[in-house]
Amino acid sequence: MHTARRTHGFTESVIREMTRVADRCGAINLAQGFPDFAAPEVLKEAAVRAIRDEVNQYAVTWGAPRLREAVAASYERWYGFEVDPDRHVTITCGATEAMVAVMLALVDPRDEVIILEPFYENYGPDAILCDAKPVFVPVRPGEGIDLDRLAGAFSPATRAIVLNTPNNPTGHVLTRSELEVIGALCQRHDAWAITDEIYEHILFEGEHLPMAGLPGMRNRTVTVSGASKTFSVTGWRVGTIVAPEAASDAIRKVHDFLTVGAPAPLQEAVAVAMETLGDDYYQDLATGYRIRRDLLISSLVGAGFRCRPPAGAYYILADFSELSREDDTTFALRLAKEAGVAPVPGSSFFSDAADGRHLVRFAFCKSENLLLEASQRLADSFIA
Ligand code: PLP
Repeated sequence: MHTARRTHGFTESVIREMTRVADRCGAINLAQGFPDFAAPEVLKEAAVRAIRDEVNQYAVTWGAPRLREAVAASYERWYGFEVDPDRHVTITCGATEAMVAVMLALVDPRDEVIILEPFYENYGPDAILCDAKPVFVPVRPGEGIDLDRLAGAFSPATRAIVLNTPNNPTGHVLTRSELEVIGALCQRHDAWAITDEIYEHILFEGEHLPMAGLPGMRNRTVTVSGASKTFSVTGWRVGTIVAPEAASDAIRKVHDFLTVGAPAPLQEAVAVAMETLGDDYYQDLATGYRIRRDLLISSLVGAGFRCRPPAGAYYILADFSELSREDDTTFALRLAKEAGVAPVPGSSFFSDAADGRHLVRFAFCKSENLLLEASQRLADSFIA
Protein backbone atom coordinates (compact mmCIF):
# COMPACT_ATOMS: atom_id res chain seq x y z
CA MET A 1 0.00 0.00 0.00
CA HIS A 2 1.09 3.53 -0.70
CA THR A 3 2.18 5.64 2.26
CA ALA A 4 3.13 9.28 1.83
CA ARG A 5 6.82 9.90 1.23
CA ARG A 6 6.83 12.67 3.81
CA THR A 7 7.12 10.29 6.77
CA HIS A 8 9.52 7.80 5.21
CA GLY A 9 12.54 9.36 6.90
CA PHE A 10 10.92 9.19 10.34
CA THR A 11 11.78 6.68 12.98
CA GLU A 12 9.32 6.06 15.78
CA SER A 13 9.73 8.25 18.84
CA VAL A 14 12.51 6.56 20.79
CA ILE A 15 11.40 8.30 23.98
CA ARG A 16 7.88 6.88 23.79
CA GLU A 17 9.28 3.47 22.79
CA MET A 18 11.46 3.43 25.94
CA THR A 19 8.32 4.02 28.02
CA ARG A 20 6.85 0.85 26.50
CA VAL A 21 10.12 -1.00 27.22
CA ALA A 22 10.03 0.19 30.84
CA ASP A 23 6.41 -0.95 31.20
CA ARG A 24 7.19 -4.35 29.70
CA CYS A 25 10.15 -5.11 31.94
CA GLY A 26 8.95 -3.38 35.11
CA ALA A 27 11.77 -0.84 35.04
CA ILE A 28 11.60 2.59 36.65
CA ASN A 29 10.82 4.89 33.74
CA LEU A 30 13.41 7.68 33.77
CA ALA A 31 12.99 7.86 30.00
CA GLN A 32 9.91 9.92 29.22
CA GLY A 33 9.60 13.35 30.84
CA PHE A 34 6.39 13.13 32.80
CA PRO A 35 6.05 13.68 36.55
CA ASP A 36 4.81 10.86 38.77
CA PHE A 37 3.68 13.23 41.51
CA ALA A 38 0.42 15.09 42.03
CA ALA A 39 -0.59 18.16 40.07
CA PRO A 40 -1.56 21.21 42.17
CA GLU A 41 -4.96 20.87 43.89
CA VAL A 42 -6.12 24.24 42.60
CA LEU A 43 -5.72 22.99 39.06
CA LYS A 44 -7.48 19.69 39.60
CA GLU A 45 -10.36 21.28 41.49
CA ALA A 46 -10.79 23.89 38.76
CA ALA A 47 -10.93 21.17 36.09
CA VAL A 48 -13.55 19.20 38.01
CA ARG A 49 -15.56 22.37 38.59
CA ALA A 50 -15.36 23.33 34.91
CA ILE A 51 -16.65 19.92 33.84
CA ARG A 52 -19.48 20.08 36.41
CA ASP A 53 -20.31 23.62 35.24
CA GLU A 54 -20.70 22.28 31.70
CA VAL A 55 -17.60 23.82 30.18
CA ASN A 56 -17.71 20.76 27.96
CA GLN A 57 -18.12 22.02 24.42
CA TYR A 58 -15.63 23.41 21.92
CA ALA A 59 -13.84 26.47 23.22
CA VAL A 60 -13.04 29.33 20.84
CA THR A 61 -10.73 27.67 18.30
CA TRP A 62 -7.64 29.72 19.11
CA GLY A 63 -8.21 29.50 22.86
CA ALA A 64 -10.71 30.24 25.63
CA PRO A 65 -10.68 34.01 26.29
CA ARG A 66 -10.01 33.49 30.01
CA LEU A 67 -6.87 31.45 29.33
CA ARG A 68 -5.59 33.82 26.65
CA GLU A 69 -6.04 36.68 29.12
CA ALA A 70 -4.23 34.72 31.84
CA VAL A 71 -1.35 33.98 29.44
CA ALA A 72 -1.08 37.65 28.46
CA ALA A 73 -1.14 38.76 32.11
CA SER A 74 1.51 36.17 33.00
CA TYR A 75 3.90 37.35 30.27
CA GLU A 76 3.51 40.87 31.57
CA ARG A 77 4.10 39.73 35.16
CA TRP A 78 7.01 37.35 34.49
CA TYR A 79 8.88 39.15 31.75
CA GLY A 80 7.42 42.64 31.57
CA PHE A 81 6.24 42.57 28.01
CA GLU A 82 2.84 43.38 26.70
CA VAL A 83 0.84 40.66 25.00
CA ASP A 84 -2.61 41.22 23.50
CA PRO A 85 -4.77 38.17 24.28
CA ASP A 86 -6.92 38.78 21.20
CA ARG A 87 -4.17 39.28 18.64
CA HIS A 88 -1.09 37.45 19.92
CA VAL A 89 -2.11 34.33 21.88
CA THR A 90 -3.14 30.92 20.55
CA ILE A 91 -3.89 27.91 22.75
CA THR A 92 -3.04 24.49 21.32
CA CYS A 93 -3.02 20.81 22.23
CA GLY A 94 0.33 21.00 23.98
CA ALA A 95 3.62 22.56 22.90
CA THR A 96 3.86 19.61 20.52
CA GLU A 97 0.95 20.77 18.41
CA ALA A 98 2.11 24.36 18.86
CA MET A 99 5.50 23.64 17.28
CA VAL A 100 4.11 21.87 14.24
CA ALA A 101 1.32 24.43 13.77
CA VAL A 102 3.86 27.26 13.92
CA MET A 103 6.12 25.60 11.38
CA LEU A 104 3.28 24.77 9.00
CA ALA A 105 2.15 28.39 9.23
CA LEU A 106 5.56 30.02 8.72
CA VAL A 107 7.71 27.63 6.74
CA ASP A 108 7.35 26.84 3.02
CA PRO A 109 8.48 23.69 1.20
CA ARG A 110 12.23 23.77 0.49
CA ASP A 111 12.88 26.39 3.17
CA GLU A 112 15.61 25.59 5.67
CA VAL A 113 15.01 25.38 9.41
CA ILE A 114 18.03 25.54 11.70
CA ILE A 115 17.88 23.16 14.65
CA LEU A 116 20.51 23.12 17.39
CA GLU A 117 21.57 19.65 18.46
CA PRO A 118 21.24 17.71 20.65
CA PHE A 119 17.56 18.46 20.13
CA TYR A 120 14.14 17.47 21.38
CA GLU A 121 13.19 14.78 18.91
CA ASN A 122 10.07 16.41 17.43
CA TYR A 123 11.71 19.39 15.72
CA GLY A 124 13.27 17.53 12.77
CA PRO A 125 10.02 15.68 11.93
CA ASP A 126 8.10 18.97 12.33
CA ALA A 127 10.32 20.55 9.65
CA ILE A 128 9.99 17.50 7.42
CA LEU A 129 6.18 17.63 7.73
CA CYS A 130 6.47 21.10 6.15
CA ASP A 131 8.64 19.66 3.34
CA ALA A 132 11.38 21.90 4.68
CA LYS A 133 14.99 20.94 5.23
CA PRO A 134 16.29 20.71 8.80
CA VAL A 135 19.84 22.10 9.09
CA PHE A 136 21.51 20.85 12.25
CA VAL A 137 24.07 22.84 14.22
CA PRO A 138 25.86 20.94 16.99
CA VAL A 139 26.20 22.35 20.49
CA ARG A 140 28.60 20.36 22.65
CA PRO A 141 26.96 19.46 25.97
CA GLY A 142 28.48 21.65 28.67
CA GLU A 143 29.84 24.16 26.16
CA GLY A 144 28.15 27.20 24.70
CA ILE A 145 26.94 27.48 21.13
CA ASP A 146 29.65 27.75 18.50
CA LEU A 147 28.38 31.05 17.18
CA ASP A 148 30.64 31.08 14.10
CA ARG A 149 29.37 27.70 13.10
CA LEU A 150 25.82 28.86 13.69
CA ALA A 151 26.38 31.95 11.52
CA GLY A 152 27.65 29.65 8.76
CA ALA A 153 24.42 27.63 8.88
CA PHE A 154 22.25 30.60 7.90
CA SER A 155 21.63 30.84 4.16
CA PRO A 156 19.21 32.66 1.86
CA ALA A 157 16.90 29.64 2.25
CA THR A 158 16.77 29.90 6.07
CA ARG A 159 13.23 30.61 7.21
CA ALA A 160 13.55 29.91 10.93
CA ILE A 161 15.71 28.74 13.78
CA VAL A 162 14.27 26.56 16.53
CA LEU A 163 15.52 27.30 20.03
CA ASN A 164 14.77 25.44 23.23
CA THR A 165 15.70 27.08 26.51
CA PRO A 166 16.03 25.65 29.13
CA ASN A 167 17.08 22.78 26.92
CA ASN A 168 15.98 19.20 26.69
CA PRO A 169 18.22 17.14 26.82
CA THR A 170 21.28 19.22 27.87
CA GLY A 171 19.75 21.56 30.46
CA HIS A 172 21.53 24.49 28.81
CA VAL A 173 19.94 27.89 29.43
CA LEU A 174 20.63 30.36 26.64
CA THR A 175 22.52 33.40 27.91
CA ARG A 176 21.74 36.97 26.96
CA SER A 177 24.83 37.17 24.77
CA GLU A 178 23.93 33.94 22.94
CA LEU A 179 20.39 35.20 22.39
CA GLU A 180 21.72 38.52 21.13
CA VAL A 181 23.94 36.86 18.56
CA ILE A 182 21.14 34.53 17.43
CA GLY A 183 18.73 37.47 17.30
CA ALA A 184 21.16 39.49 15.17
CA LEU A 185 21.48 36.52 12.76
CA CYS A 186 17.68 36.26 12.51
CA GLN A 187 17.47 39.96 11.74
CA ARG A 188 20.28 39.86 9.17
CA HIS A 189 18.75 36.87 7.36
CA ASP A 190 15.10 37.82 7.86
CA ALA A 191 14.42 34.58 9.72
CA TRP A 192 11.95 33.64 12.46
CA ALA A 193 13.06 32.57 15.94
CA ILE A 194 10.72 29.80 17.10
CA THR A 195 11.46 29.28 20.77
CA ASP A 196 10.26 26.34 22.82
CA GLU A 197 10.24 27.62 26.41
CA ILE A 198 8.22 24.82 27.98
CA TYR A 199 10.77 24.53 30.85
CA GLU A 200 10.82 28.29 31.54
CA HIS A 201 10.03 27.80 35.25
CA ILE A 202 12.36 24.86 35.86
CA LEU A 203 15.57 26.75 36.27
CA PHE A 204 18.50 26.23 38.67
CA GLU A 205 21.10 28.68 37.41
CA GLY A 206 20.98 31.88 35.43
CA GLU A 207 17.86 33.59 34.26
CA HIS A 208 15.20 32.61 31.74
CA LEU A 209 15.24 35.24 29.01
CA PRO A 210 12.52 34.95 26.39
CA MET A 211 13.91 35.75 22.94
CA ALA A 212 10.80 37.88 22.30
CA GLY A 213 11.96 40.25 25.04
CA LEU A 214 15.20 41.16 23.23
CA PRO A 215 15.35 44.44 21.32
CA GLY A 216 14.20 44.03 17.73
CA MET A 217 13.01 40.44 18.22
CA ARG A 218 9.37 40.86 19.15
CA ASN A 219 8.22 40.91 15.53
CA ARG A 220 10.17 37.87 14.45
CA THR A 221 9.79 35.58 17.46
CA VAL A 222 7.17 32.96 18.14
CA THR A 223 7.20 31.77 21.75
CA VAL A 224 5.87 28.31 22.54
CA SER A 225 5.19 27.05 26.05
CA GLY A 226 2.41 25.27 27.92
CA ALA A 227 1.02 23.73 31.06
CA SER A 228 2.59 20.26 30.82
CA LYS A 229 5.79 20.92 32.75
CA THR A 230 4.94 24.03 34.80
CA PHE A 231 1.81 22.45 36.30
CA SER A 232 2.80 18.77 36.07
CA VAL A 233 -0.09 17.89 33.74
CA THR A 234 1.56 16.40 30.66
CA GLY A 235 -1.62 14.43 29.86
CA TRP A 236 -3.83 17.49 29.64
CA ARG A 237 -2.41 18.71 26.34
CA VAL A 238 -2.60 22.46 26.82
CA GLY A 239 0.04 24.53 25.03
CA THR A 240 0.48 28.23 24.36
CA ILE A 241 1.81 30.33 21.50
CA VAL A 242 2.61 34.02 21.65
CA ALA A 243 3.31 35.50 18.21
CA PRO A 244 3.03 38.75 16.26
CA GLU A 245 -0.42 39.38 14.82
CA ALA A 246 0.17 38.31 11.20
CA ALA A 247 1.91 35.12 12.34
CA SER A 248 -0.89 34.44 14.83
CA ASP A 249 -3.46 34.72 12.04
CA ALA A 250 -1.65 32.06 10.01
CA ILE A 251 -0.96 29.83 13.03
CA ARG A 252 -4.62 29.95 14.10
CA LYS A 253 -5.75 28.72 10.67
CA VAL A 254 -3.39 25.74 10.82
CA HIS A 255 -4.37 25.00 14.43
CA ASP A 256 -8.07 25.14 13.52
CA PHE A 257 -7.72 22.51 10.83
CA LEU A 258 -5.33 20.34 12.85
CA THR A 259 -7.30 20.05 16.09
CA VAL A 260 -10.16 22.62 16.24
CA GLY A 261 -9.08 23.40 19.77
CA ALA A 262 -7.57 22.32 23.07
CA PRO A 263 -9.78 20.69 25.76
CA ALA A 264 -12.20 23.36 27.03
CA PRO A 265 -12.46 22.46 30.75
CA LEU A 266 -8.71 22.02 31.01
CA GLN A 267 -8.11 25.43 29.44
CA GLU A 268 -10.38 26.85 32.14
CA ALA A 269 -8.40 25.07 34.86
CA VAL A 270 -5.02 26.24 33.53
CA ALA A 271 -6.39 29.79 33.48
CA VAL A 272 -7.41 29.46 37.14
CA ALA A 273 -3.93 28.17 38.04
CA MET A 274 -2.22 31.03 36.23
CA GLU A 275 -4.48 33.56 37.92
CA THR A 276 -4.16 32.03 41.38
CA LEU A 277 -0.66 30.67 41.88
CA GLY A 278 1.88 33.22 43.05
CA ASP A 279 5.65 33.49 42.80
CA ASP A 280 6.10 31.01 45.65
CA TYR A 281 4.54 28.24 43.51
CA TYR A 282 7.12 28.75 40.75
CA GLN A 283 9.97 29.03 43.27
CA ASP A 284 8.89 25.81 44.99
CA LEU A 285 8.67 24.05 41.63
CA ALA A 286 12.30 24.91 40.84
CA THR A 287 13.46 24.10 44.38
CA GLY A 288 11.79 20.68 44.29
CA TYR A 289 13.44 19.90 40.97
CA ARG A 290 16.83 21.08 42.24
CA ILE A 291 16.62 18.55 45.09
CA ARG A 292 15.71 15.78 42.63
CA ARG A 293 18.47 16.85 40.23
CA ASP A 294 21.10 16.74 42.99
CA LEU A 295 19.88 13.36 44.19
CA LEU A 296 20.03 11.74 40.74
CA ILE A 297 23.27 13.34 39.67
CA SER A 298 25.14 12.14 42.72
CA SER A 299 23.88 8.59 42.23
CA LEU A 300 24.78 8.64 38.53
CA VAL A 301 28.27 9.95 39.27
CA GLY A 302 28.59 7.37 42.07
CA ALA A 303 27.64 4.62 39.59
CA GLY A 304 30.36 5.72 37.17
CA PHE A 305 28.53 7.95 34.68
CA ARG A 306 30.08 11.22 33.59
CA CYS A 307 27.55 14.07 33.72
CA ARG A 308 27.12 17.68 34.79
CA PRO A 309 24.26 19.25 36.70
CA PRO A 310 21.86 20.85 34.20
CA ALA A 311 21.10 24.57 34.61
CA GLY A 312 17.44 24.01 33.77
CA ALA A 313 14.74 21.53 32.63
CA TYR A 314 14.59 18.07 34.23
CA TYR A 315 17.02 15.83 32.39
CA ILE A 316 20.57 14.61 32.82
CA LEU A 317 22.53 13.63 29.74
CA ALA A 318 25.05 11.09 30.99
CA ASP A 319 28.16 9.64 29.34
CA PHE A 320 28.48 5.91 30.07
CA SER A 321 31.71 5.27 28.15
CA GLU A 322 33.61 4.41 31.34
CA LEU A 323 31.03 1.75 32.15
CA SER A 324 30.47 0.02 28.85
CA ARG A 325 31.60 -0.05 25.24
CA GLU A 326 28.10 -0.93 24.05
CA ASP A 327 26.17 1.45 21.83
CA ASP A 328 23.58 3.65 23.49
CA THR A 329 20.54 1.58 22.51
CA THR A 330 22.06 -1.71 23.68
CA PHE A 331 23.18 -0.08 26.91
CA ALA A 332 19.80 1.62 27.54
CA LEU A 333 17.91 -1.63 26.95
CA ARG A 334 20.27 -3.56 29.20
CA LEU A 335 19.96 -0.92 31.92
CA ALA A 336 16.17 -1.24 31.70
CA LYS A 337 16.17 -5.04 31.75
CA GLU A 338 19.02 -5.81 34.15
CA ALA A 339 19.20 -2.81 36.45
CA GLY A 340 15.47 -1.93 36.24
CA VAL A 341 16.04 1.72 35.32
CA ALA A 342 15.07 2.91 31.82
CA PRO A 343 16.86 5.90 30.22
CA VAL A 344 16.61 7.19 26.61
CA PRO A 345 19.42 6.28 24.17
CA GLY A 346 21.46 9.39 23.40
CA SER A 347 21.41 8.93 19.62
CA SER A 348 17.76 10.01 19.51
CA PHE A 349 18.89 13.59 20.22
CA PHE A 350 21.36 13.83 17.31
CA SER A 351 21.09 13.86 13.52
CA ASP A 352 24.14 11.60 13.38
CA ALA A 353 23.55 8.64 15.71
CA ALA A 354 27.31 8.34 16.32
CA ASP A 355 27.25 11.62 18.29
CA GLY A 356 24.99 10.11 20.94
CA ARG A 357 26.44 6.61 20.93
CA HIS A 358 28.03 7.00 24.38
CA LEU A 359 25.15 8.94 25.98
CA VAL A 360 21.85 8.18 27.69
CA ARG A 361 19.33 10.66 29.08
CA PHE A 362 17.69 10.29 32.49
CA ALA A 363 14.61 12.32 33.54
CA PHE A 364 14.37 13.39 37.18
CA CYS A 365 10.72 14.53 37.15
CA LYS A 366 9.92 11.78 39.64
CA SER A 367 9.16 11.63 43.36
CA GLU A 368 12.21 11.53 45.60
CA ASN A 369 11.28 8.02 46.75
CA LEU A 370 11.28 6.72 43.19
CA LEU A 371 14.60 8.45 42.47
CA LEU A 372 16.05 6.90 45.64
CA GLU A 373 14.86 3.48 44.49
CA ALA A 374 16.38 4.11 41.04
CA SER A 375 19.65 5.18 42.69
CA GLN A 376 19.69 2.00 44.75
CA ARG A 377 19.08 -0.10 41.65
CA LEU A 378 21.90 1.67 39.80
CA ALA A 379 24.25 1.18 42.75
CA ASP A 380 23.35 -2.52 43.00
CA SER A 381 23.44 -3.15 39.29
CA PHE A 382 25.78 -4.96 36.97
CA ILE A 383 27.47 -1.76 35.98
CA ALA A 384 31.20 -2.32 35.75
N1 PLP B 1 9.13 20.62 24.09
C1 PLP B 1 10.09 20.03 24.79
C2 PLP B 1 11.47 20.58 24.74
C3 PLP B 1 9.82 18.90 25.56
O1 PLP B 1 10.79 18.32 26.25
C4 PLP B 1 8.51 18.38 25.58
C5 PLP B 1 8.18 17.17 26.34
O2 PLP B 1 8.98 16.46 26.83
C6 PLP B 1 7.55 19.03 24.82
C7 PLP B 1 7.88 20.14 24.09
C8 PLP B 1 6.13 18.53 24.79
O3 PLP B 1 5.29 19.45 25.43
P1 PLP B 1 3.73 19.23 25.48
O4 PLP B 1 3.44 18.20 26.51
O5 PLP B 1 3.19 20.56 25.87
O6 PLP B 1 3.29 18.82 24.13
